[in-house]
Amino acid sequence: MRVTARTSGIVFIMSWIKKISAADSVVHQAGWVMVDPKALIHDGFVRVDAGRITDVGQGRGSFSSDQVIHHGPGVLMPSLVNAHTHLDLCALKEKTESEAGFIGWVQSVIQKKDQIGGDAILQAAQTGIDELKTSGTIIVGDICSSDINPRFFLDAGLSGVWFKEYLGRFADEPFVCEKISDTQTLSVAGHAPHTTSPDLLIRLKTASRKALTRFSLHLAESEDEVRFLTTGKGPWADFLTARGIDTSGWGLTGDNPVNHADQLGLLDKHTLAVHLVFADKKDVATLVEKQVHACICARSNFNLHKRLPDVPMMLQAGLRMCLGTDSLASNDSLSLFDEMAYLANAFPQIAPREILKMATINGAHALGFENFFGHLTPGRRAKMIYVPVLAAEPEQVQEAIVNAGFSEKITCI
Ligand SMILES: [Zn+2]
Repeated sequence: MRVTARTSGIVFIMSWIKKISAADSVVHQAGWVMVDPKALIHDGFVRVDAGRITDVGQGRGSFSSDQVIHHGPGVLMPSLVNAHTHLDLCALKEKTESEAGFIGWVQSVIQKKDQIGGDAILQAAQTGIDELKTSGTIIVGDICSSDINPRFFLDAGLSGVWFKEYLGRFADEPFVCEKISDTQTLSVAGHAPHTTSPDLLIRLKTASRKALTRFSLHLAESEDEVRFLTTGKGPWADFLTARGIDTSGWGLTGDNPVNHADQLGLLDKHTLAVHLVFADKKDVATLVEKQVHACICARSNFNLHKRLPDVPMMLQAGLRMCLGTDSLASNDSLSLFDEMAYLANAFPQIAPREILKMATINGAHALGFENFFGHLTPGRRAKMIYVPVLAAEPEQVQEAIVNAGFSEKITCI
């Protein structure tokens, strides 16, 4: 059976699967099944029972006892994972000053967010969730610094981690780090080393470590951050002074961002370090040694800093990298397809399968769900998307998914 929707976007199977009784066995067939970015099966199928994958293989086979859905000649693949976004900033789309330099942008975010009411923030966040879903992403790492209830995230049909973000020096509420289910977690994030005091960062990391949940931190994002941490001076120091924020008690020692985070004990395999635009080889070696997950948000980095992290160097060093869009306050869309295409264009030397890894398996791992998502293998959850690319060889499939402008071409099911 083939169903065609009117709007463009990624073919999104999960909502359709939901309509089928959870106890039913359903076989999904397509021209290609991407088990993982390195393993593509031509004329493949995925059998799903009660939302879990029970079999994957080649051929049309004999599935007379099952419901069979043939999606078309394209690719059935795992849902994409957006490991870093800020849904509470969706309301700031096209309202911020990304051309005014980093501090100018920060000022515009603070000012506009103050002007926008809680209802508008929540409404825009819902629109952002729709955008994530229609662009093939249902596993998300969401960072929230607004005073809103995480239920909007937990009840939206998304899986992933909802991070409550803290900055400054004080937090007068208990930190909530808790696994809600196999596929949803609440945790905490420190904003960044130049905005959040060392003692608060340590407290946040300690809370997430105790609960075995992920901890997220923007790290080595801007030149202003590096200068402030290493010298205590520069535009960021001036900005804090102008806002009446005294950091003299922070005990900064002149370490660069990665070393600073390391000294505070923030770096381990449960930490997600976001951006790393100003991370050099030595920093990356530290991150690799500590098994930190790195999240790259290339479009946001270029919009705000006119600079990108050295992704090829990081890949060569063995850093585990995933992808995020950051927020609509610094990016044009929440689409991981847009993010992959941008990265492929910026770094043509990176193989498409590596970029696909970042957008699927690595993202699932970074958020702590590697046993549930990221692969289409038996035992994992059947969160899949169908992408209508036409290609004869696995390499062409990988390249087409990463590079094509799907938002204009895809038919939704
Ligand atoms: Zn961010």
